[in-house]
Amino acid sequence: MLTPAQAETLIEQHLTCLPIESLPLTQTAGAVLRENIYAERDHPPFDRVAMDGIALSASTAANHSGRLRVSGTQAAGDPPQTLADDGSCIEIMTGAMLPLGCDAVVPVEQVQRNGDMAEIGRKPVQPWQNVHRRGSDCRQGALLLAAGTRLTAPEVAIAAGAGMARLRVSAQPMIVVLSTGNELVEPGELIEPHQVRRSNAYGITASLRQHGFTRVADDHVRDDEAQLTERLGFHLRTHDVLILSGGVSMGKLDLVPKVLEKLGVSLVFHHVAQRPGKPMWFGVSQTGPAVFALPGNPVSTLVCLARFVLPALRAAMGQAPAECPRISLTAPVEVKAPLAFYMPVKLKSDDWGRTSAEPCPTNGSGDFTALAGTDGFVELPPGPDTFPKGFVARFYRW
Ligand code: AMP
Ligand code: MG
Repeated sequence: MLTPAQAETLIEQHLTCLPIESLPLTQTAGAVLRENIYAERDHPPFDRVAMDGIALSASTAANHSGRLRVSGTQAAGDPPQTLADDGSCIEIMTGAMLPLGCDAVVPVEQVQRNGDMAEIGRKPVQPWQNVHRRGSDCRQGALLLAAGTRLTAPEVAIAAGAGMARLRVSAQPMIVVLSTGNELVEPGELIEPHQVRRSNAYGITASLRQHGFTRVADDHVRDDEAQLTERLGFHLRTHDVLILSGGVSMGKLDLVPKVLEKLGVSLVFHHVAQRPGKPMWFGVSQTGPAVFALPGNPVSTLVCLARFVLPALRAAMGQAPAECPRISLTAPVEVKAPLAFYMPVKLKSDDWGRTSAEPCPTNGSGDFTALAGTDGFVELPPGPDTFPKGFVARFYRW
């Protein structure tokens, strides 16, 4: 049976990159950039005044006993003025271009104004004080954002600063979340004692939205071969990614693998040496779409989603893989099977700012009520049956 790492590698090898689309900058938050962005100009693009005050020539200010004539006023956005002579200065605002002939700014708090005269006292003026020099942050043509970057607030601002009105980003995948099971009843509908709420689809959809996926459809099918064939066939024609829950185990009505293969979805793997989530199935359709068929037990579904599906979706969007944080356990964990084990955890921060993971055991893979308030889970490797307090494991966020 495959280890989780082997399953992850196989998924990566079978994924195709999503197409590129061009979006107006205002719609790119959360998207994955698919082009490099270079500096349009030097940053700052000119010697930029960093304080409100007066601009002057540092070397000559002292010659006039710190008394200078204010020859003009220049605001941010004004074209630069020129210093009239070394006995004068220019009233200046933050963000303005340094006037020609000037090389320093004295802040308004250190200036005594008397009509058109400005007194700055005898304190020496340092060249380039309170000036943010042209090109000191970066040079024109420097790489600011590399393809594969996920765009959050700073990156969108940087792209705007580079003059980009539109960005080439990954198109959002068309995803369908498809739950299976005769026993499942929608929240809000009447339920019989032998029935179960259809909760997985809501959990999966919430996770996808939380991670920035917006084109998400939702459907439900009974454990009926004809209906499953018809609905799966439709979704394979209309979506890039299918995320199924339930129907992948060994029972007589676990029809999902059989129907998928009948519809031309090639099996990449069925079963991963992990708990929960061992029956997970993954395949790729001859026509392109990827199919993640997750076991129906709610803890298994959410674990497989965060462990395999979310990273795969990020990779398909061209996003550079994120480093998976490693976190230590606050308490020992007992594991019963020789499989990779996913333990839900809450993150805790101590007085020294160190983060660790508090184990939150469930009462089996059906017990999703135990997940309330957890941040994600750690992956414990197969082998030992006891993991001591302080054991360091990879952490996956919900
Ligand atoms: P299955 O993987 O179809 O064998 O289902 C395993 C267990 O998970 C059964 O107890 C199902 O009732 C439950 N289950 C399956 N799908 C869902 C779902 N969408 N929401 C909640 N529970 C589910
Ligand atoms: Mg089922």
